[in-house]
Amino acid sequence: MYRTHNCNSLRKTDIGKEATLAGWVHVSRDHGGVIFIDLRDREGITQVVFRPEENAQLAKEAHGLRSEDVIQVSGKVAARVPGTENSKLATGDIELIPNQLRILNRADDLPFPIDAEIHNEDLRLTYRYYDLRRPELSRNMRIRHRVAKATRDYLDSQGYLEIETPILSKSTPEGARDFLVPSRLVPGKFYALPQAPQQYKQLLQVAGVEKYFQIAKCFRDEDLRADRQPEFTQIDIEASFVTPDDIFALTEEMLAAIFKAARNIDIKTPFDRLTYREAGQIEELTETAKVFGAKGLAFIKVENGEWKSPIVKFFSEAEKTALKSKLKIEEGDLILFGADKWDIACEVLGRIRLRVAEIQDLLSTSVKGQSDFDVWDFLWVTDFPLLFWSAEENKWNAMHHPFTRPKAEDLSLLDDKKKFPEIRAEAYDVVLNGVEIGGGSLRIHEPQLQEKMFEALGISAQDRQSMFGHLLRALRLGAPPHGGIALGLDRLVMLICGAETIRDVMAFPKNNRGMDLMTQSPADVDPRQLRDLSIKLAGEKKKQD
Ligand code: ASP
Repeated sequence: MYRTHNCNSLRKTDIGKEATLAGWVHVSRDHGGVIFIDLRDREGITQVVFRPEENAQLAKEAHGLRSEDVIQVSGKVAARVPGTENSKLATGDIELIPNQLRILNRADDLPFPIDAEIHNEDLRLTYRYYDLRRPELSRNMRIRHRVAKATRDYLDSQGYLEIETPILSKSTPEGARDFLVPSRLVPGKFYALPQAPQQYKQLLQVAGVEKYFQIAKCFRDEDLRADRQPEFTQIDIEASFVTPDDIFALTEEMLAAIFKAARNIDIKTPFDRLTYREAGQIEELTETAKVFGAKGLAFIKVENGEWKSPIVKFFSEAEKTALKSKLKIEEGDLILFGADKWDIACEVLGRIRLRVAEIQDLLSTSVKGQSDFDVWDFLWVTDFPLLFWSAEENKWNAMHHPFTRPKAEDLSLLDDKKKFPEIRAEAYDVVLNGVEIGGGSLRIHEPQLQEKMFEALGISAQDRQSMFGHLLRALRLGAPPHGGIALGLDRLVMLICGAETIRDVMAFPKNNRGMDLMTQSPADVDPRQLRDLSIKLAGEKKKQD
């Protein structure tokens, strides 16, 4: 047996008892020959004291211990010398006086100190297994575990089945690039890693599962930003015979269970709701600007990596780059411009700043003196537009994905291209403190409507069959009305932990170039594997020619 207790369990009531502990040397101090070791395991810290007058040989051995050596100590629990108790430590009243020390493993020179704030994230990521020993990260891992467990427990209590869907799968359009995996057995063909289990979860509704969920790994090959990773985790949910209200209630109760389990926080339900149009505040802000003397207000809205704005076409690349770095422009930002005489521009932008603070509820937050993490402000945004025009691709795209259903009242507008911008979808996002944490929709379950939607998106009849034939066939075999939602687990845990990036709540994240610095991946592959594949790819090409 390696240990009788963990490093956070011995208390005053244990004084006089024998105990064996195992863990890492957190800190060691030599006070005139007496060696004090803070012994750490994942539960906490216990002070271990080697006094030469009690055991000279052992004190000598302890003298050679270095930070992060792994040791086992057995001995007697004793009261600390009066006046040296540490009230900040749960074990601060006692210490262990060992009669045995076993060095289980030594640690080399350390890449960085574990108890200091390290700003070189690349270094931290290179030694991630070491970085994860830091109490803050180990706490984040625990919270993440509790969030996942609360999710499973809650959804299980509601009759939802956890079902795994394939990782080697076929492209599903969620607005990003796919990661592709070449097939060795079917030369020239590729699997796509799932951007989301969207089609599979809908097919499970056709299969009669009725209530599905999965804590699902998703893969999107996008440019990385502060809170994006090429692989991430979703709480993915789909159900049959549901209305948006059913999904809202389920999500609200699930989030309440998660917050309770993770941080013992009671969140307020039901959440407020806003339609997408109500949430579009640019028009209102423009009106405010006019009241204070401006002729208008120019804006840039950053959405899906694109700068959406009527004025951006007048900027050179250099100007755009300068703006981006000066204003630290990121996804989701709204940049408002005023141009006029100095005093008018200042007055107008000052007023706009106040109005934005009011809309975002920043004023009341500072007045109440609360920190961001005490405020849990949830919101549903509903009735998103079904389609948006992509000037780049010169075509209509689905705002959410092509399986989202239009609102019944707007169905007829699908017959008239001019009316496309007005079509609203049964789509919703859930937002926490201004950050989108999830989104979903009711789906199209009628094959004819799905065909019509594909047509509106400019997908040819042939492509419809090759890309979505399986779905269209399934919809023809008695697909029930269904809908669902997916929540970004990493982002949710990040907000719950008060972490600054999602990397701090993932065990082995990639850096902002999509690299795992610890394993040095992506890496070259075995040249023989590559040769096998490329011979087959070349052979396939020849056949096609
Ligand atoms: N598949 C969607 C997404 O990943 C979520 C959903 O519609 O349920 O955003």
